[in-house]
Amino acid sequence: MNLKQQILIQLKAMKTFLNCPSIIHDPPHVLEDIIHGHPVPLKHFRLEIDHDGIAWVTFDSPKSSVNVWNEETLREFNHLLETIEHDTRAKALVLRSAKERIFIAGADIKAIRNMQHVRVNDLIWLGQAVFDRLARLDMPKVAAIHGACMGGGFEVTLACDWRIASDHESTKIGLPETQLGILPAWGGSTRLSRIVGVRKALDLITTGKLLNASAAKHAGLVSQVVAVENLEILARRLVRQKRPSQRLLFENLFASVIGILAKRKVLAKTRGLYPSITRAVEVVTHAVHGQVEDGLLLERNAVAELIQSHDSARLIDLFFKREEANKRPTSSGTALPIHDATVIGAGVMGAGIAHTLASRGIRVLMTDVTNDSLARGLERIHGLVSDATRRRLVTQVQARDTLDHISTTHVPVPLNRHHLVIEAATESMELKKKIFADLAARVSADTILATNTSALSVSDLAKTVPHPERVIGLHFFNPVHRMPLVEVITLPETAPDVLATVVSFVQKLGKTPVVVKDSPGFLVNRILVPYLMEAVRLHESGIPVKDIDDAMLEFGMPMGPMRLLDEIGLDVAAHVARTLASAFPERFPHTDALDKMVNAGQLGKKTGQGFYRYEKGKEITVTTHADLPRHESIQTNLALLISQEAMRCLKEGIARNADDIDLAMVLGTGYPPFRGGPITFARDTGIIDY
Ligand code: NAD
Repeated sequence: MNLKQQILIQLKAMKTFLNCPSIIHDPPHVLEDIIHGHPVPLKHFRLEIDHDGIAWVTFDSPKSSVNVWNEETLREFNHLLETIEHDTRAKALVLRSAKERIFIAGADIKAIRNMQHVRVNDLIWLGQAVFDRLARLDMPKVAAIHGACMGGGFEVTLACDWRIASDHESTKIGLPETQLGILPAWGGSTRLSRIVGVRKALDLITTGKLLNASAAKHAGLVSQVVAVENLEILARRLVRQKRPSQRLLFENLFASVIGILAKRKVLAKTRGLYPSITRAVEVVTHAVHGQVEDGLLLERNAVAELIQSHDSARLIDLFFKREEANKRPTSSGTALPIHDATVIGAGVMGAGIAHTLASRGIRVLMTDVTNDSLARGLERIHGLVSDATRRRLVTQVQARDTLDHISTTHVPVPLNRHHLVIEAATESMELKKKIFADLAARVSADTILATNTSALSVSDLAKTVPHPERVIGLHFFNPVHRMPLVEVITLPETAPDVLATVVSFVQKLGKTPVVVKDSPGFLVNRILVPYLMEAVRLHESGIPVKDIDDAMLEFGMPMGPMRLLDEIGLDVAAHVARTLASAFPERFPHTDALDKMVNAGQLGKKTGQGFYRYEKGKEITVTTHADLPRHESIQTNLALLISQEAMRCLKEGIARNADDIDLAMVLGTGYPPFRGGPITFARDTGIIDY
């Protein structure tokens, strides 16, 4: 069937959907161009048809480490499919990538961001039509996935008969579109549920999570996982087999009920603040019935609407801010590789940092003062590793490898082989100064000394060592394995090579570094504290805890401020608040409320009593009868405080630019990403004059 016939079928499907208002009425010119268009020279793909009749289609965009879908690559792929359709030698097709770590990274979001809406709609049509052409190509088709296979990169594989994947750590599969405020609209929302069932499809699409090869196999996204060098052999074997026919999955008969339940769950979790997720539930559960063409129409309508939203624009902006921070070199210095590191302290943070480093192949020596503390730290690490294995985030081999990368000692040993020491001992300036002075005698002259302090002055610590230019702050967030942000705290004397090395090290850990100046509270805590203290003050003035938390949950925070204080621990929060109150007494007046609770032994969740009461780790909910206007005024008051402090940090040069501040608050505190960050929010709403 040629493309024109396909379009006619799609138009027919549209007519049957008269009660579903269409946003895009006609197939765009871009499709006409393809039907009547000229052959396109192959630039991004290679096509080889071997003596077994297998058409090997290799995606390999020139001068780039990634493959993405855009108008050019889609047109070229379409032309290539046409060539295969007409080549009588071709009996089967295998789609693969020549890139080291990327199969297909998805749509070219950069291009989409700069497009007029009408051209975005054209691109949606184009992708749907080309992938549909692949689906209708009457021969066995295998997608041999090695490397990142995301969004449109995964959607194209859904038009194949088999998906197989390499077990390489770079192989990650998923549909993250809802995280950008849109949804999979190149057939992903329609085809996935027909392959894995509505429930698994909804789970993947609404969370936007990326699965490694083993988890992808477990979820049914791929049928087999093999070593990368065996992908070709397996593909050859599969194309000789009978093509799997698509059977109706039993659970899909109940798609409407599953959809209602899923929507309820999503709304409870997101409070309706993420329309792309609720829309995705609707589209997936409706698209599972009827023809594929009907589903594609639903996808087009939904995405055309979502892509024009303010939320989607903000989420896409944020995606680029993060990409930028994850890639850019940060100083003029030279980044040196780090293979060995020491972590001082085996507590909550030390064990978490040691685990994260080891899981990225860095040999770690973890130290503490007693064997007992080390044993507790190791136990924590074992817990993290077995949890990750259970959830198929890592394989057994990777888990063992992580543990093999960690050794421990409670006696002082020479550390001159280690290029980086991260101190994560108990928060006390006196103790940390002693540790730094002692370290200085045991490390080599080019070792970098980093501290994970939450609130102490890095400059004061640097004064205790002979090479202050090699001292830096590395502020990881708790829990380390989940939190994506690391504040990199610099001093005026920090050597450019030290900064470059540390930034690149954080990037290699898969975390996002944000470079900040040494100043009380650094960046994130400094912005958070006035907000948390104002929440305490509101509570003191008589507003119930639950009302304050609910107001901020409705703003989009993942947790209300009172609950957050309980999680942090009121003792820790009071300590950070005191540090900031002494640095900025005019703006951060000290409140006794926290101290009183600390003195009464109410430290939050860890003692079972804080602003909430906890039983077996669960909060006992207090019901109140808040009215909406009160919620709104709490929200405005607290959100304003966050934005005001963020603006002050920008003016004082605590971070290098507004993007970094927005990013740090989203990644470090869960500030609602669809609002773009506190500075973007202030600019968008005009709540601050500047
Ligand atoms: P913790 O109490 O869980 O662990 C501290 C560990 O340091 C203990 O095991 C203790 O035995 C060990 N220690 C004490 N003196 C030592 C020494 N001389 N040499 C080696 N080890 C020693 O504390 P934590 O929560 O892991 O915090 C550690 C650091 O990280 C602090 O500076 C804290 O402010 C900072 N931090 C904590 C969090 C958090 O949420 N817990 C977040 C970011 C940063």
